[in-house]
Amino acid sequence: MLVLLLVCFVAAAQAASFIVGVGIADATGPACDVNFMGYANPSQIGAGIHFRQRARAFIIAQESDPKRKRLVYVSVDFGMGSQAVTREVLVQLGNRFPDYEYSLANVYISGTHTHSAPGGYDQYAIDQLASGGFNMETLQAYSNAIVSAISKAHHSAKKKSRVYFGLGKAEPHTNINRSPTAYLNNPAEERAMYPEGDTEQYFPLLRFETEKHQPMGMFNWFAVHATSMPNTNLLISGDNKGYASQVFEQWMNPNGTLPGHGAFVAGFASSNLGDVSPNVNGTFCKYSGKPCNAVHSTCAGLTEFCLGRGPSKDPFESTKIIGERQARAAREAFTSKMKQVEGSGEVITKHRLVDFSNVTIEPEVTVRLSRLAGGERSLFEQQERRTTCKSALGYSFAAGTTDGPGVFDFYQGETRGNRFWETIRDFIKVPSNETRMCHYPKPVLLPTGEIDFPYAWEPSVMSIGFALLGKSVAMLTVPAEFSTMAGRRLKRLVKDRLVSKQLLQEDGIVILSCLTNAYAHYVVTFEEYQAQRYEGASTLYGPHTLAAYIQEFFKLIDTNEGTTNRAEDDARVPNLIPKAISVLAKPNVDKLPKRVKEFGSVLLDAKPKYKISSSASIVAVEFYSANLRHDLRLEDSYLTVERKLGGSKWQVVYTDSSFETRMMYTRNKLSRVSIVRVEWRLEGAMPGTYRITHTASALKQAGKPFVQFTGRSREFEVEK
Ligand code: ZN
Repeated sequence: MLVLLLVCFVAAAQAASFIVGVGIADATGPACDVNFMGYANPSQIGAGIHFRQRARAFIIAQESDPKRKRLVYVSVDFGMGSQAVTREVLVQLGNRFPDYEYSLANVYISGTHTHSAPGGYDQYAIDQLASGGFNMETLQAYSNAIVSAISKAHHSAKKKSRVYFGLGKAEPHTNINRSPTAYLNNPAEERAMYPEGDTEQYFPLLRFETEKHQPMGMFNWFAVHATSMPNTNLLISGDNKGYASQVFEQWMNPNGTLPGHGAFVAGFASSNLGDVSPNVNGTFCKYSGKPCNAVHSTCAGLTEFCLGRGPSKDPFESTKIIGERQARAAREAFTSKMKQVEGSGEVITKHRLVDFSNVTIEPEVTVRLSRLAGGERSLFEQQERRTTCKSALGYSFAAGTTDGPGVFDFYQGETRGNRFWETIRDFIKVPSNETRMCHYPKPVLLPTGEIDFPYAWEPSVMSIGFALLGKSVAMLTVPAEFSTMAGRRLKRLVKDRLVSKQLLQEDGIVILSCLTNAYAHYVVTFEEYQAQRYEGASTLYGPHTLAAYIQEFFKLIDTNEGTTNRAEDDARVPNLIPKAISVLAKPNVDKLPKRVKEFGSVLLDAKPKYKISSSASIVAVEFYSANLRHDLRLEDSYLTVERKLGGSKWQVVYTDSSFETRMMYTRNKLSRVSIVRVEWRLEGAMPGTYRITHTASALKQAGKPFVQFTGRSREFEVEK
């Protein structure tokens, strides 16, 4: 790798330098008892770890005014940004760094959109309904990790650092559009501007180096859902994005660095992935194996049998393949001749709080959108009323997607409604005529913007952020999942605006960071909205939601209104946490079977010998354990695989963050006995003598402190 880095870079004439720092922290939430966020599957309750969640941060500050002018970006292996997390992070940063600007205007926290991580950390009812209630343990784990990653970036920031930018090209079959029929609704002229097709194949990438060309970090924004793991997976996982980061960091950090512990940080952040799946083989019917109905994604009329597939039958393998494809494509761009950010080294950041339930689209934006459609008087222009609406979810929202279908008789592309569900829905809230008409042609299933019991179901006031590095890199942050074309439209129109105002050079790049600082489901184009696929049904504020974003970004760029005022922000974004309803009980006292004396005792031991070559070479050890929520073991591990070095010396070669290991947790509800099973897949292992350990904490008596324990397997041989 270092050899490749010796390909040196000729600094451009007006290359700018910045103060740059990177940081990484362990963001792993409770590894049992908590519902995963993303698929809204009530039975997807976490029960172990495949590999740990991380928060990865960078800070870029202007050398002439570093305390005020700084961009802080964090990509977190969790479902999505959340107003509750962002608020908590800003409070903690304010306490730690009172002299520095850390506010909504410059702190952007984005989710990688893994669907295999604990939920319950947002403040709105719909997100809590989807993840079994509010959960303070998750909120704290995420907030603390983000603050820790930012603090590391803050303290390690180096003067005269270099920022390079460029576009990477994806490897073939890294993503696929999961609503291609909706994409085809976009004007042909506009689609023709993107010969690469109905998903993004190019992605922006930033490379950070010290003054002496020492690589510090890399962040990129490639559009794909982190849903290689299915809605039946119970192990915490960063999915394909988290794995891509680990692979890249392993390449760049010294040999033997354990995952999450190196100085070089590689972030694979989320972008316009709304209609983009990693299940690249397409969608097939579970039993017949035939392709699903394309318009509705159904098999024999049902969504639950239509599933995205590939690249492997095994989801762990798919995670690996899609992760490695992203990592290799990023390396290709990272090691190529990238441009250095030019200009005076200025860092501009600002944000705007927008009430998305109440935006009127002005004629200028309408005209610009129509021009993209080839100048024809589009369907969009023919609309008499161009405003956003109070939030509402359509029928196809409940159908889910082919990455994780819903289970009831909903299907995608539903524009009519269904009497049975209307009756049930009307117990909750009958949508007003205003909301029905505003969202047309979406049949409203849940008028979330009209329900405030027990508190707000969806946000309406949310922040959009804008950052500019010199005249080379612009970043737009949005709280939603934009579809491929919605993202392209926004980026194209904003770039035109910036270039015409001479704020960005023609060769500059626009980064779109999705799922940032809050969560407002999806944003599709007006034309895609008409198809009412899952993404259109989940476009919360009606058919003109995208136009509202474009308009508000124009305002943010054109005026100085967007600059920060923390007190005002705090007053406008509601804090619902004091009212939040939590249903998860505190962990109970842990028990052992009568015949077992100690926590950590081995229930199933390793065999004396294993062969690496055999196809089923998995070492499995089971321990008597305790509720994992007592101690999250952050920056550490619940398990180690140790290799004997000689004498009594052992070296840790794998942890619970290694792709090669899996930790499964079970607890008997009646006896309260917990079992942890550790599996180690031997593929790629070195021959030698090994042992496996498990460490956790037990609550032996109510009201007493937890007691840490460690169990150990026998020593065993691993041979070629
Ligand atoms: Zn999504």
